[in-house]
Amino acid sequence: MTDPISNNVINPSVGESDTSLQYCVKHSRRATNLRCNRCNDLICSECANKTPVGYRCHLCIMSQQSIFETVFWYDYFIVGLLSFVLTIFAMWIMKGVGWLMLFVAPVFGRIMSDIISRSIKRRRGKNLSFVAVGFMGLASIVVWDLWGLIFVIISANIVYRNLKGINI
Ligand SMILES: [Zn+2]
Ligand SMILES: [Zn+2]
Repeated sequence: MTDPISNNVINPSVGESDTSLQYCVKHSRRATNLRCNRCNDLICSECANKTPVGYRCHLCIMSQQSIFETVFWYDYFIVGLLSFVLTIFAMWIMKGVGWLMLFVAPVFGRIMSDIISRSIKRRRGKNLSFVAVGFMGLASIVVWDLWGLIFVIISANIVYRNLKGINI
């Protein structure tokens, strides 16, 4: 029972300048002056989570994670399949256009990232772009062709940036 925080708590009923004392929003008996640097709630040492940007409460950590990770597990499957099928389809259509690939590839990249993004209802996940690029690369190996490879490199670069959340 040696809790250094609760030992510091002065009983408010004593009435000794208790206005200077502040308590954790979750643990009303633990005095603290630490605040979550996002929502500014008072947090005790147990409620505080150390992050690279400072101390945060549990709620802020949780909501922060759900902003960046909104994908479901099957989204990766959809993204992988679409990237693979669409790339093979595009390479097949554009077989023989040669250097014109250089102009078509960026357009295709944009259309493709839009299709992928819509298919998963614009949910976001930090690994989605890797999955998309990986399956585009796989498709280029299956349909081996030099211009096709250049085409995939250009369009995959655009898909990667779009799915990462860097808007065009
Ligand atoms: Zn907070
Ligand atoms: Zn607490």
